[in-house]
This record gives sequence, structure tokens and C-alpha cells, in this order.
Amino acid sequence: MKTGIFSDVHGNLEALSAAMAAMAERKVERYWCLGDLVGYCANPNECVARVRQTAEAVVRGNHDAACTGGDDIASFNQFARQAILWTIQHLSDEHKEWIKNLPLTVTRDDILLVHASPNDPASWHYIHTRMRVGEMVRAFSASPARLIFVGHSHQPMILVQKGDEYFRFLGDRIKIETDCRYLVNVGSSGQPRDGNPRAAYVIYDPAEATVTIERVPYDTETTKRKIRDAGLPEMLADRLDAGS
Ligand code: ZN
Repeated sequence: MKTGIFSDVHGNLEALSAAMAAMAERKVERYWCLGDLVGYCANPNECVARVRQTAEAVVRGNHDAACTGGDDIASFNQFARQAILWTIQHLSDEHKEWIKNLPLTVTRDDILLVHASPNDPASWHYIHTRMRVGEMVRAFSASPARLIFVGHSHQPMILVQKGDEYFRFLGDRIKIETDCRYLVNVGSSGQPRDGNPRAAYVIYDPAEATVTIERVPYDTETTKRKIRDAGLPEMLADRLDAGS
């Protein structure tokens, strides 16, 4: 079943809508969301409602946990903290209850979904672009899954394990080989941080045996205006155009 996978929406309704429309156009039949639905942008309720309607599987992220009493907010930087406090005030009780009950991991056949690293998911270790081999080994060996999809770092990328070799695949579209395992960071729809402001998502096509990282532009002006109108930190609006 062709599957669209996205993460780190962070209350950005315009980015979520653009990503969902792009995935629908690619004839996606099933959606998976890798967490951090809220925090940073001004439409947490609308984004949660949309994901609840459409996603077949959803895992909990660190901002989701912090906004629903599950994690201490002291570990977040001041901008994230302000956004979390704002979200706690504005997110409906019903959505909070739903988020609280989200699992940290979901397994589908030989595929694992997790917000951060599969290595101790509740510690929120990053799968990031400058990982050393030892960190890759730790992440891959924490799960037997052949395909692992993660978010959290807001930087899309594909890591490959082939026997004793661990490396980053430098491309957006990879063919799934039977003798390899893959750790795919799907990036962020709502707040990309890889210098590309376009909303990120991934298409997993089992029929073609491919995983593709895709990007789609969205109406950042509307998102920025909503952030400012909500009284959220200006910096959270400014960073969207830079993709930082
Ligand atoms: Zn995030």
C-alpha cells in the first residue's frame, strides 16, 4: 500500500494541508504521522483534528508529551517553552487526552515508526545529519525492523545498513534492497531546519520498493501572520522562510 509519512507538523496547518494535498496527488493510500503535531505554530487543534481523521498510525513526539503533561518543559529552549505554554492553554482537552494515549512506537510488518531514535524512544535522541557510525549502530541495533521511519531532527535523510557498513545515502529517492536495512528521517512538514523552507514528507511505495523524500511549498505568509497574531515568539515566524 503506497504510504505517505510525515512528522513534526507543529501546529502549522498551511504546511500540513500542502503536504497532505501533495501526498494525495501521489495517490497515497495510507498516512503515518511520526509525532510532534503541536508546539511552535498557531493551529494545534486544527492539525490534530486533521491527523486524527487521516492517519492510520500516529506516534507521540516530545512536544506532544510536553503539551500534555508527560514531559518536563524545562529542557526546552525559551522559544519552544513559550510555544508549549501557549499550546497548553489553547489545545482542547479532548485532543490532549488523545495525544496522551499515543504510543511511542508503532510496528507494521517489518517497519518501525518512532518520533526520535529507536534506541530508548522516551529519551528523544536525535537521528541527525552529522551522526557518527557508533550512533548509527546504536540506532539500528535497537530494532530488528528492516525499515525505520523517524522524525524529530527536522532534517530529512536516509541512513543505510548493509552488513557491517553504515552510511548516509546522499539522495532523495532510494531503491529498497533485500540485503539492506534503512533508517529514514522524514524531516518536518511544519518547521524544516535543513535550509529548505518547503514542507517535507516521504512516500514509501512497496510495489516499486522505493522510499522518496519530497518537498512542497506552502503559504508561509499566512502561517507567519497567525503566529504573530497569536502572540507567539516572532522568531518562530521568522525561521519558517529560512527553513532553519
Ligand atoms: Zn519537532
